[in-house]
Amino acid sequence: MEPSTSKTKEQDEPLAGFRTAFKSFATEAIHVGQEPEQWTSMAVVPLISLSTTFKQHSPGQHAGFEYSRSGNPTRNCLEKAVAALDGAKYCIALASGLAATVTVTHMLKSGDGVVCMDDVYGGTNRYFQKVAAEFGLDISFADCTKPELLKAALKPNTKLVWIETPTNPTMKVVDIKACSELVHEHNKDIVVVVDNTFMSAFFQRPLALGADICMYSATKYMNGHSDVVMGLVSVNREDLYDRLKFLQNALGGVPSPFDCYLCNRGLKTLHVRMERHFKNAMAAAKFLEADPRVAQVIYPGLPSHPQYEVMKKQCTGCPGMITFYIKGKLEHATTFLSNLKMFAVAESLGGYESLAEHPALMTHASVPENERRVLGISDTLIRLSVGLEDEADIIEDLSQALAAAHPKKK
Ligand SMILES: *Cc1c(COP(=O)(O)O)cnc(C)c1O
Repeated sequence: MEPSTSKTKEQDEPLAGFRTAFKSFATEAIHVGQEPEQWTSMAVVPLISLSTTFKQHSPGQHAGFEYSRSGNPTRNCLEKAVAALDGAKYCIALASGLAATVTVTHMLKSGDGVVCMDDVYGGTNRYFQKVAAEFGLDISFADCTKPELLKAALKPNTKLVWIETPTNPTMKVVDIKACSELVHEHNKDIVVVVDNTFMSAFFQRPLALGADICMYSATKYMNGHSDVVMGLVSVNREDLYDRLKFLQNALGGVPSPFDCYLCNRGLKTLHVRMERHFKNAMAAAKFLEADPRVAQVIYPGLPSHPQYEVMKKQCTGCPGMITFYIKGKLEHATTFLSNLKMFAVAESLGGYESLAEHPALMTHASVPENERRVLGISDTLIRLSVGLEDEADIIEDLSQALAAAHPKKK
């Protein structure tokens, strides 16, 4: 047995074992939609176009832009780049991840059915149950990690299937290809949506796996700098694009040109950031898994993860999200969090900076306790968004906070 050798090798090649990266990803992130020729100044970096209105040659004759809600030059640059990174024909940008969810759901009409993964982002769950259901949509939930349960949940009125993988915070992984095939075999007109927020375009391409729509909270990894709230929706199907483009304008949940500029800029380093998130998170996950003060680590990049094989098959790597159960009780978890020095205790994820949070008290506090128990969101569960700092400093911070939570017995 040579554990140290294999460990070193994995750390040198953090993407080993997963699917190889998408061809020309970095080149497309840097160049698609960014052509200097689109500006009369030949600007290499896209302009922030703040004008809400655009002069027409004669009534109804314009150069492609009329009014900034229906189309904006800076937003165009971002949408073209994201489409390329998703291997999609089209992308539309929205004001937030939830604005993207709302816009997609508005393709349906009263009486239509939605089957949603049972463990999704809290805001998605709240929107479906407390808002969409009030407008007459028939919302049901299924554990999509077991495709047969998804199949059983499909009804004659089902029009939309909403999947999120990995889930938050318990990191359940759904086989996108298996679910998409099963749903489309049942009825090819059902639209399969994958919330790809946790993976980013660099690690997972839902459309290539059979999904119809790939959506993001770009607030997280896609922008990656914790300074923009935004949503993105990518599609290949012409009919879906036409409808979504119409809804982007008709509902009006559009992002500002400045935010589009920032997110477009964030994409330029997406590949570099994600590789580093993976490397740092893998090191942190291995450290935590080997520590006797930790009861369990859930990281989809580790062989101990129940759906590790699905991850390797459908992803090119793993992001910086780690969930773990600290040994002890609530006070051990809160002591650990209060003693972190570099990690900030904060909600959200996917930025360059390391964050830590307590789902039961913070992001998932609104989930009723009995539901939290079913989902495994206990008082000792801690969620990390491992950032881009130096690996040794990340481990050191986790180590000293664990020591504070579990002082050695004298
Ligand atoms: C944050 C998040 C959302 C919601 O996005 P906002 O940009 O906050 O509106 C949706 N899905 C997932 C997985 C998220 O993490």
